[in-house]
Amino acid sequence: MLRNSITLGRIAGIRIGVHYTWIFIALLVTWSLAGGYFPANFRGWDTPTYWLAGVVAALFMFASVLIHELGHSLVAINRGVAVHSITLFIFGGVAALKNEVDDAWDEFLIAAAGPLTSFLLAGLFWSGGALAPATSPAGAVASYLATLNAFLGGFNLLPGFPLDGGRVLRSIIWGISGSLYRATQVATYVGQGIAFLMIFWGLSQVLSGAVLNGLWIAFIGWFLNGAAEQARQSQGLRESLAGVTVGELMDPRPPTASPYLAAEEFVYQYVLRQGRRALLVVDDGRLLGLVSVTDATALPRPVWAHTPIRQIMTPIPLKTVTPATGLNTALQLLVEGDFHQLPVVQDVRLVGMISRGDILRFLRFRDVIKAPGQSGRRVWRDPEPV
Ligand SMILES: [Zn+2]
Repeated sequence: MLRNSITLGRIAGIRIGVHYTWIFIALLVTWSLAGGYFPANFRGWDTPTYWLAGVVAALFMFASVLIHELGHSLVAINRGVAVHSITLFIFGGVAALKNEVDDAWDEFLIAAAGPLTSFLLAGLFWSGGALAPATSPAGAVASYLATLNAFLGGFNLLPGFPLDGGRVLRSIIWGISGSLYRATQVATYVGQGIAFLMIFWGLSQVLSGAVLNGLWIAFIGWFLNGAAEQARQSQGLRESLAGVTVGELMDPRPPTASPYLAAEEFVYQYVLRQGRRALLVVDDGRLLGLVSVTDATALPRPVWAHTPIRQIMTPIPLKTVTPATGLNTALQLLVEGDFHQLPVVQDVRLVGMISRGDILRFLRFRDVIKAPGQSGRRVWRDPEPV
């Protein structure tokens, strides 16, 4: 779920939310339909009718985008990929999957389902609208929604990531080449190409006088460019971390403390002097919890001296990983939980700690040792004996 979103409810277990930017676009659409599009194309309605038509069309537009995302989501669930939420925001909707799709065919089906749903909706609105006279408010709203959904389906089929067509393209290259990394590179570069064309087209519209329209197109292009670039970077990161395990990078002797250590000593001795962010609280070799600098600073300064860390620590059960956990999984856990570090546990025994810093250091180190024409991963996987 995007930050600053309101939850509206749940459909098939999926949380449906609206980001505050959607409200802005809903008002803009209502206003431009009621004050511009409908009066210009359909004369003779009274003012409340124009506004009613505008509101109804905007609400159905909201529903259309939601149903498009539900199309993706239901196919995802059907393919065994859990869906976390659907959020509507200024540029449309986004369905957040719980995990990465790990199969090219699944990605193809999930991506194609959205535009297909929009085309089906276009057909429904078109045939529904045919029942009412074309110049009546119902007929006008229905034909507007038919066009809108056909456009949504068509635009989303453009073959640049993050658009659905870009995901379809990625899944095809992925399926043929077997490399998700290469497929993401191609699809995101095409996506950036499309984004730059939109920015260019939008700005030329601005220069020719269509300021609002032009800015809007350029703005969407700018957003798509950023999303494509980010997707390529995070895929590159995943590629860098693939095949590396927590056990290879963890601190095998993580700093631990007794549960009776005073918060004051923790801050002065470990945080300030040793630069630790967190300590594992261990009693008799048994992991009891994790105390971090945030836990201490939440406490009023005068009581630091008399408060043992067991009172402020995050007690077990903690999110933990094992030495065999892949770095990608560990990083995902760190990001999702907003943690700085995770204890590494094997058979209930504490064997280490892995932190964001360890992963960052690995990435930096990997770039330094990466020789031209040689994959950094191979260098790392076959290290020189020290
Ligand atoms: Zn879509």
